[in-house]
Amino acid sequence: MDELELIVDLHLRNPRQGPGSVAQTDLAIAMTGLAADDALRIADIGCGTGASAVQLAKHFKHAQIVAVDAMGAFVERARERAAAHGVSDRVEVREGDMGSLGFAPGSLDLIWSEGAIYNMGFDAGIAAWRDFLRPGGLIAVSELTWTTPTRPAEIEAHWTREYPGIREASENVRALERAGYGVLGYFMLPTACWEANYYQPLEGGFESFLDRHGGHADARRVVDAEREEIRLYRAYGAWYSYGFYVARRLDGD
Ligand code: SAH
Repeated sequence: MDELELIVDLHLRNPRQGPGSVAQTDLAIAMTGLAADDALRIADIGCGTGASAVQLAKHFKHAQIVAVDAMGAFVERARERAAAHGVSDRVEVREGDMGSLGFAPGSLDLIWSEGAIYNMGFDAGIAAWRDFLRPGGLIAVSELTWTTPTRPAEIEAHWTREYPGIREASENVRALERAGYGVLGYFMLPTACWEANYYQPLEGGFESFLDRHGGHADARRVVDAEREEIRLYRAYGAWYSYGFYVARRLDGD
């Protein structure tokens, strides 16, 4: 296995592949103002193993959802999950690249993306995906976000190196406004989304992962990098979280 395959293997068994929760997905759903019984067309971009896609299908009982992820193993797991929840007739999981999605212009009512847009960058993602929305269509997207204008040097250095796109919520709101969206609101994910729902399950899998791949120096490096990210979160989690942004496509021209 190469490093990417090892990372996928480490995350595959967990309920989600990034911070989040059922409650926070529900909050973002409420902020869209969309009616639960509408026959919506929804895309979940960077769906991982399908946590939000399945939740969206259960909430929007007449929606058709296309969930897309670049990793075949996640796609397979998301399909199994949709089947286990009895929603596979309305959740189509596709392997694909968020930078070259084949949706027809104006064909979606709602774009969902939790903890994934960083793979192409917030500004590039919101610009590329806007065209897929019908006028007035909605986007709900979460993105790593600073909570304050300044922060301790160690965490500043870490995230500037790992994800230079990180910025403050006000800057992401402004970016949405500039890209032709009207922002309905945003909120920051609370600690439980990181700890109970993401880091603790991840940590719980380190030992068996190392049992499977421990002879492999890359596998040990993957675990060390995750441990370092978790250590930094526990020391500096007050200074950043995922911001969850909900916005509407505006066509003012
Ligand atoms: N939304 C999921 C997964 C978040 S992790 C959750 O919240 O649990 C980020 C996801 O983006 C991973 O599943 C990863 O495979 C996917 N990804 C990374 N690059 C991608 C790309 N270019 N196109 C589509 N998906 C991508």
